Amino acid sequence: MTAASAIRFQIRPIQPEAHLFEVSCVIADPDPMGQRFSLPAWIPGSYMIREFAKNVVQLWASAGGQPVVVDKVDKSSWRCAPCSGALTVRYHVYAWDLSVRGAHLDTTHGYFNGPCVFIQVDGKASRPHIVDIQPPAGDGYRTWRVATSMSREKAHPYGFGTYHAADYDELIDHPVEMGTFSLATFYACGYPHDVVITGRHRADLDRLCQDLAQICEYHIRFFGEPPPMERYVFLIMAVGNGYGGLEHRASCSLLCSRDELPRVNQSEVGEKYRTLLGLCSHEYFHTWNVKRIAPAVFIEPDLAVENYTTLLWAFEGITSYYQSLALLRCGLITPEVYLELLGQMATRVWRSSGRFKQTLAESSFDAWIKLYKQDDNAPNAIISYYTKGALAALALDLLIRRDTRSARSLDDVMRALWRRYGDRREGVPEDGIEAMMMEVSGLDLRTFFDKAVRGTEDLPLSELLAQFGVQMEIRPAESAADVGGRRAKVMLESLMRRPVLGVRLAEGNGEPKLQYVNDGSAAQRAGLAAGDILVAIDGLRVTRTNLEQLLIPYSVGDRVRVLGFRRDELMEFDLTLEAAPADTCVLTMMDNVDGATRAQRAAWLGAV
Ligand code: ZN
Repeated sequence: MTAASAIRFQIRPIQPEAHLFEVSCVIADPDPMGQRFSLPAWIPGSYMIREFAKNVVQLWASAGGQPVVVDKVDKSSWRCAPCSGALTVRYHVYAWDLSVRGAHLDTTHGYFNGPCVFIQVDGKASRPHIVDIQPPAGDGYRTWRVATSMSREKAHPYGFGTYHAADYDELIDHPVEMGTFSLATFYACGYPHDVVITGRHRADLDRLCQDLAQICEYHIRFFGEPPPMERYVFLIMAVGNGYGGLEHRASCSLLCSRDELPRVNQSEVGEKYRTLLGLCSHEYFHTWNVKRIAPAVFIEPDLAVENYTTLLWAFEGITSYYQSLALLRCGLITPEVYLELLGQMATRVWRSSGRFKQTLAESSFDAWIKLYKQDDNAPNAIISYYTKGALAALALDLLIRRDTRSARSLDDVMRALWRRYGDRREGVPEDGIEAMMMEVSGLDLRTFFDKAVRGTEDLPLSELLAQFGVQMEIRPAESAADVGGRRAKVMLESLMRRPVLGVRLAEGNGEPKLQYVNDGSAAQRAGLAAGDILVAIDGLRVTRTNLEQLLIPYSVGDRVRVLGFRRDELMEFDLTLEAAPADTCVLTMMDNVDGATRAQRAAWLGAV
């Protein structure tokens, strides 16, 4: 036995119907003073304290066949009594969270993220970790296989058995799927990529592989070959209705709606399939941007507490910017569709008055308590570093292209960040993004950063886009279903006369409940609040679907009597209808542009 003995885990579904994994961990040379260990409170990539220890149902420890006393030290940590010889810690983890951040187990499949199931042994996290992944007992599970990007030790490909990681950090960065998933493999720049789909579906896997290969090759060539991983795995969970993704160093977990998967004989990239490809593109770009080009605090993160950075806008925003730009540059979407997606992104930003109150740097820093814990005041109080971050990336790209006459672009900045930090596994300091933007472009961008990242002024997108032959129009929404990005079907004058309350109804089929009340809106002035259930307007019943119809006969400035329930109390509100605000963005290609503008636009978007 050497001082650097591996930490050895075994994990198996002990009772799939009760959603229980049994995990054991053998520590050959436990701390003679009493070994301490803990479970992470959060999972990298998802910036919220989740307290994974809450799912540990029972825990035991033993050494040399004798039980060892274990005490809880704090909510996520334990300490064993001193013992001699190898220490075995065994515990049951409840796994019934079907999200890309959790662990999920039933009789149809098992899925887990390392932070949910693997304890971190104090003082020994840098050692190699070996994990023996076992199937549930019983004939019914004979056909189950394993999908993970973790390196195989003794297991056959896609088989149960032992896998290994260089250290704890790596161990928890390879989620594992087990079950009877569908599987397909494609190669991008010669490197194998697996697509694993769990859940009932009738997807055209060949088509999916073909399109993903293009996207992956684009990203690999963008940063430069070879890619930073030997193989890659897309773990996809297809459900009736769902959306989510989480990036890892050599894989990603995705939750998608079944109808986003491509069907056989579906030739075009439709709106739904485009959403899935965008999600895949996003997570794959993260393989470089955030998994390797990462804020300094994430290089050796403290998984027990919040880790603060003002830079999430660069890691999520720039990634969100490139997720669609890559689809365009691969020819999977047209420039018109690309501009539609940008318009929808801008609409989400322009609909949040929180953008005047929270900066991108603040949104990043407070992700733990705000973006990840949104309440009914969120649109009035915060701004998403994803959406506004993507627009800031767009603005920076255009600014650099314009002021360097297309000699430099955001692409060059990303490649420089990769060479300086990612490839060398060095953390990006808090001022590192801004410094690199200025170094690569040769421009003084401090004023831009003061306004766009450290300030709350609206981004100068309209002016910048116009210089690239793209017109940005901001108009009132046509209806509550209008997500922006498209020209209105009716005249602008009639849109500006459309009367509204200034609220958003909660999704779903239930009662017409107010999800948000916009700051300064007619509804807020009249006293309506989030959570109120609308009953009637001027004596006519309000339903989930008829609110806009009920308002058609009215004009802006008309007074209406609104009845609603707050809790179980019926209340009456006198409301003066307001005009729908201009908060819906539409980007369109300008036809009459000069040759220089056309060339700049083509350099940005590709040949258009
Ligand atoms: Zn992301």
